[in-house]
Amino acid sequence: MILTNARILTFDETNRVLDSGSVEVLADGAIGCVRGGRALDAHAVDLQGRLLMPALINCHTHLYSTLARGMHLPGPPPPDFPAILKKLWWRLDRALNQEDVYYSALTGLIDSAHCGVGTVIDHHASPNACAGSLDSIERAFHQVGLRGATCYETSDRSGRRGAHAGIRENVRFLERVRPGALVGGMFGLHAAFTLSDATLAACVEANQSLGAGFHIHVAEDRCDSSAVRRLCDAGVLNEKALAAHCIHITAAERAALARHRVNVVHNPQSNCNNAVGIANLPALFRCGVCVGLGSDGYSPRMWDEFKVATQLQKVRTRDPRQGGAEAYAALFSGNREIVKQIWGTAIGRIAPGARADFVLLDYQPPTPIDSSNLSGHLLFGVSNAPVHSLMVNGRWVLRDGRCVNLDEREIAEKAAACAKALWERF
Ligand SMILES: [Zn+2]
Repeated sequence: MILTNARILTFDETNRVLDSGSVEVLADGAIGCVRGGRALDAHAVDLQGRLLMPALINCHTHLYSTLARGMHLPGPPPPDFPAILKKLWWRLDRALNQEDVYYSALTGLIDSAHCGVGTVIDHHASPNACAGSLDSIERAFHQVGLRGATCYETSDRSGRRGAHAGIRENVRFLERVRPGALVGGMFGLHAAFTLSDATLAACVEANQSLGAGFHIHVAEDRCDSSAVRRLCDAGVLNEKALAAHCIHITAAERAALARHRVNVVHNPQSNCNNAVGIANLPALFRCGVCVGLGSDGYSPRMWDEFKVATQLQKVRTRDPRQGGAEAYAALFSGNREIVKQIWGTAIGRIAPGARADFVLLDYQPPTPIDSSNLSGHLLFGVSNAPVHSLMVNGRWVLRDGRCVNLDEREIAEKAAACAKALWERF
């Protein structure tokens, strides 16, 4: 398939912007030729001058949180982060059944597709519907047509039996997924403060022959400070690990993250919402840590995370020079490097050999656009543009604002019925 007549942001080695270009999509879902000018092929798909760029990546989210939207929490609002977990999230995930897991994932992934996100890295918990939950989520990914990964967040909060059920679910799923699959796995851990030394050791041992990366919350709140050292000592943090947040860390811990080549995921809107603090992105970058961007279940819109990541550093430092370069690097370099590092998949570029994951936006720039001023267009213009289409692995997921692989209305009705029953059980 040839896509033609698009303004193309390549994000390739030299960050080329092609004012009118064409991209070849090969039968195996890889990108073939990328060139300037219109294709002469009569069968080429005319993108009518819209803007084509790599599909966005969300490096940390919780799809199970989708059915919590609009839910009423009885009693006074939780005063701190541990209270938010106990009052909301740990009650919600205990109430989830297998059907809720499936419909919350499906709805969250449809929302992601509408926001131009082609890859979603999920972190899942459903203690009373643990066995098989990762299969339900994988099924939802395939139904929508998105790329991504999932894992089960092992913890000791439901006792030893709950911890072992989490380990079994991770191992079972990781043994089944094949390398290079559209939906991959990680070994999920909740956070150091909900994991005993014995459970941490059991997770590391269970993962020994699998060699998967661990996906874990690290130092999100003050209650989890000193996590970095403990997790490094336990053998959890390495070049395949995803450490979400890393807010409450010292300079020595930042250096340890860089030394162990840990991938850190910043989740700015969730951090604001939980009032847990602001990660020091410039310091992480200066240390050489690979930093990506996620939403932590707050929103499917990575553009909003990009904007808030930019603004938060300005607020934190009261320095208008801070934040822009870091947020840009996290979303457009960090996220694709993380996916490459953990699963070996080349996405996030429109270049020969990379996977054909694209978002097509209705964006006609009113000012000149080239590789030198891309970040300004992304922050103030492209991020506000309607998503017209989304392609993942060479196949359309969204066309003209509609999911092509499923009936969105029917799914929304089923999800609403699940949510109603879930809220009654909550
Ligand atoms: Zn999270």
